[in-house]
Amino acid sequence: MGLAMADKIIQEIRKSKWKERYDWWLEDNWTSRNKRIDFKNERKYLKELYGCFDKQKVVVMSSSQAGKTEWLISEAVYSIDQFNWNCIYFLPTEKNFGQFVNERVDEPITNSQHLIKSVKQEKTQGLKDKVKDSVAVKKLKGRIYFKGTQNTLSMKSTPGDVVYVDELDEMDTDKVPLIQKRLHNSNIKKERWASTPTLPNLGIHAKYKESDQREYFVQCPHCKKWQTITFWDNVKWEEIDGEIKNERIECAYCHKKILPYKCEGEWRKNNPKSDVAGFYIHQLLSPTCDLKELIKQSKSPVESEIEQFYNQGLGLPFEPKGSKISDSHFENCKGDYKIGEIKEKEDIFVGFDVGKVIHYLVMTPTKIIDFGEVDHFFKDEVDLDNSAEEIIEKYNVDQFAIDAMPETRDSIELCHKFPGRGLYVYYGLDKPKKDEYEEREGLFKWIEVEKNADKTETNRTVSLDYTLALIRSRKIQIPLDYRNYPEFADHIKNLVRVVREDTKGNKKASYEEIGPDHIAHAFNYANIAKEFYLGDVGLTFL
Ligand SMILES: [Zn+2]
Repeated sequence: MGLAMADKIIQEIRKSKWKERYDWWLEDNWTSRNKRIDFKNERKYLKELYGCFDKQKVVVMSSSQAGKTEWLISEAVYSIDQFNWNCIYFLPTEKNFGQFVNERVDEPITNSQHLIKSVKQEKTQGLKDKVKDSVAVKKLKGRIYFKGTQNTLSMKSTPGDVVYVDELDEMDTDKVPLIQKRLHNSNIKKERWASTPTLPNLGIHAKYKESDQREYFVQCPHCKKWQTITFWDNVKWEEIDGEIKNERIECAYCHKKILPYKCEGEWRKNNPKSDVAGFYIHQLLSPTCDLKELIKQSKSPVESEIEQFYNQGLGLPFEPKGSKISDSHFENCKGDYKIGEIKEKEDIFVGFDVGKVIHYLVMTPTKIIDFGEVDHFFKDEVDLDNSAEEIIEKYNVDQFAIDAMPETRDSIELCHKFPGRGLYVYYGLDKPKKDEYEEREGLFKWIEVEKNADKTETNRTVSLDYTLALIRSRKIQIPLDYRNYPEFADHIKNLVRVVREDTKGNKKASYEEIGPDHIAHAFNYANIAKEFYLGDVGLTFL
């Protein structure tokens, strides 16, 4: 038997095994930027990730340029080619969809004799009417739908067997539940989540923490010690006249130079109890790492560059200073009174946040007086002292504001019970009120109350900015025993201010919660009531 014949037989055998051997399918069919995938040499740290094909749920927290998109796309194409599954590939925006699909999907397909034969490029015309942003729909035997998460309607329109989520941390958090719902009618229900991280405990970092938390260990070829590679323990350089010289990765033990991607390596789990496979991948493992650039970024005095260094460079979450309220802020605001204590006659305001229970916060213009939770909107004769109504009566409140959602009818009714004293608030205002209020400053400009009604609109980010600034800049006192109700500080700390760029490159701030945040919103509503009341009947400077 000739060699060519033997090769052909081997090829046939491999082909018949593609369904069980994802790695063979990859080696035989996949290229990335016209290069074959290489798990034996430079990218062996990725082999285990690709080995997780049968896992229901896989999470990848990674730096940029670490191979996560490649993994997502190749697995999606494999799934439709070998299993006929429907795959939905989510990206944060539709911007550059065409180019993305062209480079990352079309190219490897065109490079493979097998794939090019099986692929049918569908005309998107018919679909386009229904789902506007579904720019590219690829058909092998199954399909891949590419979707941007900005369009809720389009997200809802397609059921799938596997969802691929690329750059989770760039997506609006309220869209995430819609992603999982796409799998509702499937028996397969596989999820793939990948992103560079942003803030701790948010997005991909939260998912990684729920996973089995795999980290890559390499063995030093000189002293044989196993270690993870970190920027602080392993990256070394000299500085001569401000120039970075002789940058290198060293073994943390014997300090000899090593190339992590050439070392023996293995993934170890920090949380083996989880059945979600989670990988932390960073540039220092990759042969294409630009070490000098990374070192330069790490030394930047600009916080946004430091943020980049952590997120994009190291694949680690980073908490910028000032984005979140900390324990010292609360300590700085501590007054000389206890929860519920009012020393002199002052105007009283209350905010109510409506959820499973109703959280409330009582304040004067200068002090937070009380906070907690009640179960009912209205006085309940068999469960006294457990309603929003009784809080209003107890403190003889001058103005209160209540979340208009989700129990709009009850919120309106509560306002009607106390004519002129209640506001039910929506977070929907995009621009400040105009003209007549020009002379006023601050939050008042952002509180729009419908004429002869209690219906109120404000802006979520702006109002929270003003309200949380009270604590940051010590403009409000809090009870000295505030820790007796730990939710108070915890909920406020759980709101984190995040600035993201939209598709047009405009920066946009928002608050995202990293845990329960109800008291923070109750505080915000109380402050809205206060600002409206003081702005409306208080002093005006004319
Ligand atoms: Zn060593």
